[in-house]
Amino acid sequence: MNHVDAATTYLAPMRTASPCAVPEPPTTRRPAQVSAARTARTAAKTIGLVEAMKRVRLGELAPEVTLAETSLERRIRAHLERAAVRVTLTDNRYTMISVRRVPRERRYEVRLHHMFAEADPVITRALARYIADNDRDASRVLGDFIDGNHAAVRGKNRRAPGALMITTGDTHDLRAIYDDLNARYFADRIEAAITWGPRTGRPRRRNSIKMGSYSVEDRVIRIHRSLDREFVPRYFVEWIVFHEMLHQVHDIKVKNGRREFHSKAFLADEASFEHYRQARAWERRHLDALLTY
Ligand SMILES: [Zn+2]
Repeated sequence: MNHVDAATTYLAPMRTASPCAVPEPPTTRRPAQVSAARTARTAAKTIGLVEAMKRVRLGELAPEVTLAETSLERRIRAHLERAAVRVTLTDNRYTMISVRRVPRERRYEVRLHHMFAEADPVITRALARYIADNDRDASRVLGDFIDGNHAAVRGKNRRAPGALMITTGDTHDLRAIYDDLNARYFADRIEAAITWGPRTGRPRRRNSIKMGSYSVEDRVIRIHRSLDREFVPRYFVEWIVFHEMLHQVHDIKVKNGRREFHSKAFLADEASFEHYRQARAWERRHLDALLTY
């Protein structure tokens, strides 16, 4: 991924002018080996669980889903001290893990792909360490597990994003923002994962910042952590997310031999965002603060 974004080039001269929505280079991580025996053993259970989750979506009761969730909660909690964990299993195609942390109460709300339902203690321990501390080694273990189980992910777009999707920030909740925009502007038709980018080290003044990016192949929107601060208003984060979502709607056209990432039609759509002018004006006033991260 190599891409500066959010309305970028035509807005702020300080931001560099590289294109949007470039496909990511292939990851080098090798998928973890999943034994045939384990695959066979869990296949039947998984099918049952997925069927049950469908019934839940239709508003029916499915005790096997609740059982799987409470079992997983118990196994994760075994690796945590004095913490409350609430697990919701999902069949989401793009987001395998998303964590909402309520640190003061030591409470964690976790949405996990159903591939984790039968996870062994190595994985549940990694989940616990990841959930509580954002532990880097743990996220590597989980990334390998996700890659090794990508066959469990439904749909055509089966390539697991590999990286973990973190939607809850310190200030802004990307899942809430994305869901809201998807309903308001896109009739819920956008299918992408969204995540905060990696945390960085000591704050410094940067010459440019990639406020957002959209990876076409993986359908992953990444938002820069610089935006997850109290002085950044929600409508500004919304604008950046909205811009990245538009990349799924607008194809990248080639014009005079160059790829055009922000066509006239794209920019016109972007301007339809409710707080467009306000967001642009806010950015101009706070660019220095945004670039210092
Ligand atoms: Zn863009």
